Formats: sequence, C-alpha cells, structure tokens
Amino acid sequence: MSRYTLGVSALLAFTLACGKSVVEPDPDPTFTLTPSDTVSVVETTVFVTIRAENVLSCSYPGGTYTADANGRINAAFGVTVSAIGPNRIPVSCPGTNGKTVTKEVSVRGIARVKATLTASPDTVYVGDWTTLTRSCEGAASATRSWEPNAAPMGGSDEVTITALGPTTFSYACTGEGGSDVATVDVVGEPVPPLDARAFRNRPGEIPGSHLTQFVYMLSADMTDRGHDWNGQMEAVINAALVFFAGKTGRVPAVDNFGGRPDILFIRSTKTHAGLLPPGTGVISNLLDELSLRIGGLREKKKYIIFYPPLIPLGFGGSAVQGGAGGAVYSSLPEWDNALIDPLGNVPPFFPYGYTWIHEWGHVLGAVSSTAPNFIGGGHTPNPDIMCGAPATDCDPSQAEVDPDGNDWFGDNVGAGIFNAKLSLWIIPAPPELVTMGRLQAQTLRDSPVTIELRKFREELVFPPKRPQ
Ligand SMILES: [Zn+2]
Repeated sequence: MSRYTLGVSALLAFTLACGKSVVEPDPDPTFTLTPSDTVSVVETTVFVTIRAENVLSCSYPGGTYTADANGRINAAFGVTVSAIGPNRIPVSCPGTNGKTVTKEVSVRGIARVKATLTASPDTVYVGDWTTLTRSCEGAASATRSWEPNAAPMGGSDEVTITALGPTTFSYACTGEGGSDVATVDVVGEPVPPLDARAFRNRPGEIPGSHLTQFVYMLSADMTDRGHDWNGQMEAVINAALVFFAGKTGRVPAVDNFGGRPDILFIRSTKTHAGLLPPGTGVISNLLDELSLRIGGLREKKKYIIFYPPLIPLGFGGSAVQGGAGGAVYSSLPEWDNALIDPLGNVPPFFPYGYTWIHEWGHVLGAVSSTAPNFIGGGHTPNPDIMCGAPATDCDPSQAEVDPDGNDWFGDNVGAGIFNAKLSLWIIPAPPELVTMGRLQAQTLRDSPVTIELRKFREELVFPPKRPQ
C-alpha cells in the first residue's frame, strides 16, 4: 500500500507541476493604444496613450518607453499627422516572456483650410476697378463679401471701387478642417482733374476691356519735359492712329479719359543707370518698374512707354513680342528732345508715331517667323510698318500696313501665323479718322518726308513661356 500511495503522490506531484506550466505561464505582453483624436488637421500633433502590461518596453515612432519594475507602461507620445488620409502609427512592445506584440492606430489626416485673397492693384482712383483674386485650400465651400456672392472655390473678379479711402473685402473658406477668412483693403484715391497728371489709370473704361495705354516714364535723374500733358505725346499718338485708320479702317483701342489718351506719368525713384543696369534689357525692366508703380499690370492691357534716355539707348524702341508692352526711346537732341518737330516741317507721325505703332505691332505678336515675308527679328521688308533689322532701307514716309495682307494683318494671313486683324486690341476706326488717314498718306506720297535721325536701335524680346 505504502508503495502504491507513494506512487500516487509522485503522479500527483507530476500532474501539479505540469498543470502549473499550462495555467500560470509567464504572461504575454498586452497593451492598448488610445489616440487623442482619430481625425486631425495635417501638421498638427496627436497624442497616443499607451497602457501596457507584461512588457519590457514599447517603441513608437520617434522613441521608446521602458517599463517599470512591474512590467507596466502608462504614457503618451505625440506624433505629427503628416498625410491627408490614413496615418498609421505602429507601436511594438517586447514582453517579459520574450514575445513581441505590435499594434497600430490610424489617424485620418484632413487638410488645413486656408483662404487667400489679393487685390491688384490695391490702390486705384475712385471709379476705377481692381482685380480680386481668391482661392481656398482644403475647403468645401466659400463665401465672399462682394457681389456676386455665389463663390466657386477660386477665381478672380473685376470690382469697381466707389469709395475714397480703404474698402475691405473678405473671403471665407470652410471645410472639414475648419474655417479661414482672408481680407484685403483696396484704397480709393480722388481722380485728378482732367488737365492734371495721372499716376494711375483714370476710370471710365469697361473693366477688363482690351486697351492700349500710354505711359510717360522718367528715371529719377531725367529732365521732366511734360510730354504727358503738353500735347506732344497726344499728337504723336493720334498721328499713328490716323495712319493706321487710313491703311486698315481700324485703330488700336486706346485707353482714353475725357476724350484724350489716358497717359500715365511714372517717375521712377531709380536713376537711369539703376533702372536699366548695364547688360540687362530695356523693356522688361521698364515694365517691371511700371508694374511696381501702379500695383500690377493689367492682364488685358498693352502698355506703350515713352522713355527718353539720351544715353546710351539713342533713338529707338523695344517690345516684348506678344507681351505686355513696348517702349519708345523718345529723345532727339536735334529737336531739343521734343517729340514733334519744333519747326513744324515734319508731321508728328515722324519718328515717334511710326515708332510706337511699330513697337505696338510687336507687342500684339507681329511678325511670326513663319510669315511669307519674314526677314528675321520680328520684321518684314520695306514698305511694311513692321520693316526693321536686318532691313536697312525702311522708309516711314511710305509705310504700309502689311501691303499683301499675308504677313501679320489681313485676310490672307495663313493658319498658324499671327494675324493682328483678329486682335482684341483693335477696333473699327471712326470714318473721319479713316478719311484723315487717307489724306495723310496721299500727302506723304506727293511730298515724301525724309528726316536725318540717329541710327534707330531696337530690342525685341520674347515673353517667358507659360508652363503648359
Ligand atoms: Zn521692330
């Protein structure tokens, strides 16, 4: 019996030992992860709380917590939500029993709402308009403080400023990530009287219309000869309009105020050398300066700048082909720097009327290199008004506008070749202007004008290609 009893005891002891290994093993690691938010704006921080048992440590993105003596962790770490959509945050905890458990939480990143609103220009004469450009990021809806208040998420509006002083515009964007409001002030200034100088565009035109605007620009160190108000620029402008009307029955649509060209006066704070540093171009610098001074060039305007350097440009012009503007270097020592012949022998078409209309042709886009009579440099041969280098025999007094109508203005211009006749910056000419133009051309045929002028210089540049 005793041997049997002993045998049972040994078996029982063995069974107990085996039972202990099954029922009370060294336990597996367990933990929970609790994020402070399951949805969060990107670039913000979410905190994740770890509660773990039976662990040695827990590793999370950016760090590791070590367990206390009891194998526990109760801590929180911060993580920046970087992506829109799911952001997976893994945590891995090796247990005291040698097993490692990995879990993750997911936080959905949503876009930050951002509203943007700009005005160009941000200062105008009362009655003129500005362009308000708006956009939203991360938003589902938007409202604006001006009419029409049915805002798509982005775009621009031409808004007329009716009040003196600042007018505040606001644009609000709302989305899952909250709201944002952008505001901009546009300052209205009093319109100068008709016979005073204009430093900005004077009101009156249809917002966004396609117009050519003239500018009298001086560097800080140039003598102001008052050509914007003394009638000389006006005479030169009108002479070329008459020429163009007589040849084509059409005219450039000129930005007028009170029945006269609305000429801007721009006095740069830079010297001539500062405005046109040696080695840089002319027209791009002048357009940049103009843009700076008037708070941005208008998209649908072409600018013709009269800029009177004696040195080193000489007499000439420049243009951005198919771009925002061109310039006329208006300075003839022979005429004491007047724009029209002080003796009255030479009609005002020469040389500056001829020059601005030539540069204006470039600004519209003339002459395509694929035009039949293209000779290089955006030019055609004499007697076209677009005659220029490398031709050396251009004769302004016999000038025509694309005599065959196949190079840059007419009905015979081929497909793919720039045709100014289709340009939005040209309108039908008043009949009396056409009559005057034909008379002017006849007078010139009867008694051609030859004038001795310094060699004409021209710079033609191409606008930067827009990203496709
Ligand atoms: Zn040219």
